[in-house]
Amino acid sequence: MSKFKCRYCGQEFSSERSLLSGSCSKHPAGWCKGKHSLYEGADEEKFICVNCGEEFSSLRSLTTGSCSKHPDGWCKGRHVPYEGSLKSEYTCKYCGSKFRSIRSMVSSSCSKHPDGWCKGKHSPAR
Ligand SMILES: [Zn+2]
Ligand SMILES: [Zn+2]
Ligand SMILES: [Zn+2]
Repeated sequence: MSKFKCRYCGQEFSSERSLLSGSCSKHPAGWCKGKHSLYEGADEEKFICVNCGEEFSSLRSLTTGSCSKHPDGWCKGRHVPYEGSLKSEYTCKYCGSKFRSIRSMVSSSCSKHPDGWCKGKHSPAR
């Protein structure tokens, strides 16, 4: 049976309905400021943060830590899971540049970032 996981807190639910009905203690807007949100990625052997590229063995451990490269500022929020499949090469969804890992991708600025030229990092397409 497939499990339903929250992308904010990593908690597992037996149904999508029960996931979406509960308040999330790790909601980005603040403690229980919103509902759990369904993690749509595959159940991979590792989970990667799209902001910093750090790898975790479980979604729960990923969502526990603060992200040093959060878009809002240093440790202003939690890691955010990459929800695409694991690949040997990752493509930036803004500029199309290819990288061998998410970690190397997010370490450099994107010339086609939606906020403006190099106003943000590359971000992996799914
Ligand atoms: Zn949650
Ligand atoms: Zn992170
Ligand atoms: Zn880019």
